[in-house]
Amino acid sequence: MSHLKINQLSKTYPNGTKALVDVNLEITTGMFGLLGPNGAGKSSLMRTLATLQEADGGSAFLNDIDVLNEPDKVRAILGYLPQEFGVYPRITASQLLDHIAVLKGITNGGERKELVNYLLQKVNLFNERNKSVKGFSGGMKQRVGIAQALIGDPKLIIVDEPTAGLDPGERNRFHNLLAEVGEEVIVILSTHIVDDVKELCTDMAIMNFGEIVYNGKPADAISSLNGKIWRKSIDRSEKDHYRKMYKVISDKMVAGKPQIHILEDANPGEGFVNVEPNLEDVFFKEIHYR
Ligand code: ADP
Repeated sequence: MSHLKINQLSKTYPNGTKALVDVNLEITTGMFGLLGPNGAGKSSLMRTLATLQEADGGSAFLNDIDVLNEPDKVRAILGYLPQEFGVYPRITASQLLDHIAVLKGITNGGERKELVNYLLQKVNLFNERNKSVKGFSGGMKQRVGIAQALIGDPKLIIVDEPTAGLDPGERNRFHNLLAEVGEEVIVILSTHIVDDVKELCTDMAIMNFGEIVYNGKPADAISSLNGKIWRKSIDRSEKDHYRKMYKVISDKMVAGKPQIHILEDANPGEGFVNVEPNLEDVFFKEIHYR
């Protein structure tokens, strides 16, 4: 069982942007979802944990490793799939994984070959192993990305916005693979896609403007809104009226017409119907835009 404890982590960029504001989190083995809109600070947190950038203050411990002060120890047990894992030289999947295994210190050729074949099978790319990665689809590339992140028997795997650009079938396959990996190690999945977290994660945090605004189980967050979410289809011209009258937490087009969700303890009348809350309601309740 691995354990990551983040304490009062902060980061302000030289231009004054506060990307991390006293972040506190405790994460154990399993799939952890870090959800937030673009610019929330997710990548800043992921890069800090991956020892690719420094924090201004606070601490993070992965088991007994001091993440901020012992980067080499972290790197030895870290698997990282960055947001942009799309630039490859013209080499095959097998060669790419072999190369990264060398970089990660697996010098024994026989051991490396065995590992690479095992990983190719695990991410379901064994039959494609001798094809150029350049020609792979987005989903196949992400699976190569996971395979390389698994080299070196990591205890912590960080995946940053992994499903952007995948079609629904590829996304499903990628989800299944992540869920399997998450049975043994800590997997932090950073994403702005609510459904990724809903489908995969047992624990999550929501980030907004560098702060953790929710930390808990998706199911608990959803049930805390039971009975309080009300839906109505309105005319576009009525939007301002409803925004003034109610706490409108989401507003989206359904079959060409705006449909709003509001948060109210009691029945607001006016033709609103009570609906089952979902994780998107939680998300829009917790975040705000400036
Ligand atoms: P997310 O991953 O949630 O989209 P980021 O961590 O990338 O968020 O960014 C958080 C905030 O920090 C944003 O306002 C972004 O513009 C800013 N930011 C990110 N990287 C830098 C940087 N190197 N210099 C200045 N500002 C940055």
